[in-house]
Amino acid sequence: QSTINKIAAGEVIERPAAVVKELIENAIDAGANAITTEIKEGGISFIRVTDNGSGILKADIPIAFLRHSTSKIKTVEDLLSVSSLGFRGEALSSIAAVSQLELVTKTPGEINGVRYIIEGGEEKSIEEIGCPEGTTFIIRNIFYNTPARRKFLKSTVTEAGYISDLIERLAVSHPNVSFKFIVNNQIKLHTSGNNNLKDIIYNVYGRELSANIIEANGKSDHIVMSGFIGKPIISRGNRNYMNYYINGRYIKSGIINKAIEEAYKPYTMTHRYPFTALHFEIDSELIDINVHPTKMEIRFKNGEEIYSIVYHTIKDALAGKELIPEVV
Ligand code: ADP
Ligand code: MG
Repeated sequence: QSTINKIAAGEVIERPAAVVKELIENAIDAGANAITTEIKEGGISFIRVTDNGSGILKADIPIAFLRHSTSKIKTVEDLLSVSSLGFRGEALSSIAAVSQLELVTKTPGEINGVRYIIEGGEEKSIEEIGCPEGTTFIIRNIFYNTPARRKFLKSTVTEAGYISDLIERLAVSHPNVSFKFIVNNQIKLHTSGNNNLKDIIYNVYGRELSANIIEANGKSDHIVMSGFIGKPIISRGNRNYMNYYINGRYIKSGIINKAIEEAYKPYTMTHRYPFTALHFEIDSELIDINVHPTKMEIRFKNGEEIYSIVYHTIKDALAGKELIPEVV
């Protein structure tokens, strides 16, 4: 395992939440509709992600851990029209380079599953075993071989908080997938995956918030917008509640933030930022997603259209509503 590889891996994988993000996105790409994430010590000593997706064939396992190995793009053209969440083929090799990784997986067509162990990028074993269909990844002792990286990690509580925020956003962005999150043997979150966004908001944010949301649906030439926004009483001093998803991805955009905040301006809010859980379907030709390993930047070729649809849809949804909190 060369130093260069370890440095590169640290860039992709900067903390336990990044591992969880990559593993869950792979599970979603594999067609899973139930994903369980379990962590101990903020994910630093233990992360387990189990899915009921397609599984991986034994022969494909070592290949999946090669750098820049992905089963999701076959041609250069595919790069321009990726619909799957991951497509760089860097996650598994990066995670394996800086941790002790165990994989157990079985495809529906095979009788036996496979257990694969790789530590610090070095393959330790591959054997056939009996196991359920789907895939389980266990990541132990992240950065055990890169102490300098480990020092940058925050407290276990803070790292667990990052993972929790991530899973909440993934649950709301994929209402058709049931997410379970277990921290130190306690279930912290369990969403139904019933594809009803309001139910998922209830699962994630609780009764009071979900009783005080308003549906906000809109449509313009190239954009379909749907989801829920909080009544102005549901707000925060930061943008943690202000979430939206573009073509299934959690993304931040200055234009969308501005449109949301402007639409709420006439209403007195104790805090500045409202709750939103909005989905946007936008023609992929009109967006430019710059996928950096650790962050996503988005640029709209039709900034005015997106601003206008967001602003007007929210303004209309808020107008004429009885903006009194519902008793819960
Ligand atoms: P990418 O997701 O960009 O293709 P990764 O390094 O994340 O690259 O994964 C490499 C490959 O391993 C994937 O392309 C996929 O074929 C396979 N894979 C990873 N996780 C899973 C999973 N949970 N279920 C099925 N296949 C998986
Ligand atoms: Mg991936």
